[in-house]
Amino acid sequence: MLNIVIFGAPGSGKGTQSARIVEKYGLDHISTGDVLRGEIAAGTELGKTAQQIIDKGNLIPDELMISILASRLDNLVDSNGVIFDGFPRTIAQAEALKVMLAERGQDVTAMIELDVPEDELMDRLLKRGQLSGRADDNEETIKKRLVVYAEQTSPLKEWYKNDGKHCYINGLGELDRIFADIVAAIDSKM
Ligand code: AMP
Repeated sequence: MLNIVIFGAPGSGKGTQSARIVEKYGLDHISTGDVLRGEIAAGTELGKTAQQIIDKGNLIPDELMISILASRLDNLVDSNGVIFDGFPRTIAQAEALKVMLAERGQDVTAMIELDVPEDELMDRLLKRGQLSGRADDNEETIKKRLVVYAEQTSPLKEWYKNDGKHCYINGLGELDRIFADIVAAIDSKM
């Protein structure tokens, strides 16, 4: 079982690189942002709650996010492992993931940090907003998301270093070079 956490600020390329990792290693992809956007599109109660939080650039409460993730894991059939995209975003979520995987006799194999400077993140997200129409890709919400990332999510780098799983990747440059670095990092942890 290969369980990969793809990690980085909004706009760091997690979704793009996840697609390539899924193809190479045959993993299931769980993107918590996509799960929440699916709930919003379906107009569920969860979607309504999530939309208000996402539009402000804040994080969905840990308890809710952890239960959403647990149910996604329970629904996997014949899985070779999972790429976790957008989860964990807090230390409480990382601890919960460790427990959930341990209950299945598994662990995170590697945490891949995509490092991209803030001015580049802002550029990418504004461009993405124009193309995709994602409501949270506007300048005000992006700034808030970057603050939330710095305060609540980036401490996970230390957490995963202490757990022996952290792999640093320079997320600026050619997509092929970034992917090659990711593959080398994953293979070194297998
Ligand atoms: P993403 O598509 O990963 O950028 O997620 C979009 C938004 O969904 C985030 O800005 C959060 O509001 C919410 N979200 C996604 N994943 C999580 C998570 N693991 N914990 C809390 N909120 C999340």
